Amino acid sequence: MSDLRVRFAPSPTGYLHIGGARTALFNYLLARQQQGIFVLRIEDTDVERSTQESVDAILNAMEWLGLSCDEGPFYQSDNFDHYKQKVQQLLDEGKAYRCYCTPEELEAKREAAMKEGRKPKYDGTCRNRNDQPEQPYVVRFKLPEGREEVAFDDQIKGRISFKTEELDDLIIQRTDGTPTYNFVVVVDDAEMGMTLVIRGDDHVNNTPRQILLYEALGYPVPQFAHVPMILGSDKKRLSKRHGATSVMAYQEMGYLPEAMVNYLVRLGWSHGDEEIFSMDDLIEKFSLANVGRAAGVFNPEKLLWLNSHYIKTGDPQRLADLLKPFLAEKGINTETGPDLVAVVKSLQERAATMVEMADGAEFYYRDPVHYDEKAREKFLTADKASIFETIADQLEACSEFAEESLEAAFAVVMEKTELKFGKIAQPLRVALTGGTASPSIYEVLQVLGKESALKRINQALNSLS
Ligand code: GLU
Repeated sequence: MSDLRVRFAPSPTGYLHIGGARTALFNYLLARQQQGIFVLRIEDTDVERSTQESVDAILNAMEWLGLSCDEGPFYQSDNFDHYKQKVQQLLDEGKAYRCYCTPEELEAKREAAMKEGRKPKYDGTCRNRNDQPEQPYVVRFKLPEGREEVAFDDQIKGRISFKTEELDDLIIQRTDGTPTYNFVVVVDDAEMGMTLVIRGDDHVNNTPRQILLYEALGYPVPQFAHVPMILGSDKKRLSKRHGATSVMAYQEMGYLPEAMVNYLVRLGWSHGDEEIFSMDDLIEKFSLANVGRAAGVFNPEKLLWLNSHYIKTGDPQRLADLLKPFLAEKGINTETGPDLVAVVKSLQERAATMVEMADGAEFYYRDPVHYDEKAREKFLTADKASIFETIADQLEACSEFAEESLEAAFAVVMEKTELKFGKIAQPLRVALTGGTASPSIYEVLQVLGKESALKRINQALNSLS
């Protein structure tokens, strides 16, 4: 076991999105690889915007992806008293102060700064105030004096340094007494013993402020790794305009978690020109050194391609279990009718998503067959009666529906009708499936079985126009 301790720290203000899931995955992979500890911490100090629904959605999505944590989930809202004490500690040590400036005053200062072309930042009015009027206040962290620069070696981006003159006295406690993100994240990351903080690079600008807080609170500073953001195909920040951004929306659209994991990891990380990675491969091969500095571009076609790969190569029994709810949604009961595993096997090569597989599986369970109108008009015509009768006779005589006996049966049908297989197969396909696209005729016959196949041919004979 190494001493690596990493965490994923989502704010429960919505579903788990693609970017968050990738951050969680990177943390998880490193923890597993180095036999470290992966902590899950729910950052719900913003009581107004945090919901239980979002917590559940995030936990659910992590479970779906297989990202189990070793410690947690911890909830920051359980820890308010402790954060208060820590704010008090900084006040007592003169490292923080109460600021009584009203929002209107702050706005006026901001506007004045903008007018004069200065960067708007708090001017320190309340820094040296000693009175404690009966007025609402925030608590600000005093930017340490005499410090010119804060720098850190980001494990992805390299050395990053900030001039302290760019920073100002950060609010660490709001007027309602609740602590702010930058403060609690430091207290928790330090007290939970994080050795490495991996997160989205939208937090790079927070890092120097946090480092100063670590120092002020007397905590060791962890390592940082800021993961580049994810862009849409138009190179703008990934948003709903580019398609679903919620991880679980992809489950609903019939994606497999292993495809999603494989896709997410490649948004920023590479290993030569390999594309296919199981979770075990990733645990072995993942490294921050191979995470690029450039933003990843979300490519839905590649995700779809990976998904069809995992469907093609997936365990049919597992896929059958996953398929059931998709079929149930269509009102299809798989307890009666063909064996679902056989159905899956006939469709694995043809379906890129579980939704497509459910669409493709539907005909197996629709009894009577529901015909596509165009297909019926074209193929279920009166002149086909003798073909269907000949097929029925030969299938009836077939003792088992194995490939060889079916081939023999259809050889007889072709001879008797003097037709090529293609001319026979398409009307038969419509009779058996209701449409013109399906797995091969032999596969369909085998999956349906003799009784059901003959019943369907009979239905077709009765429907000929
Ligand atoms: N709760 C923060 C977020 O969701 C966490 C940032 C961090 O990892 O420090 O953006």
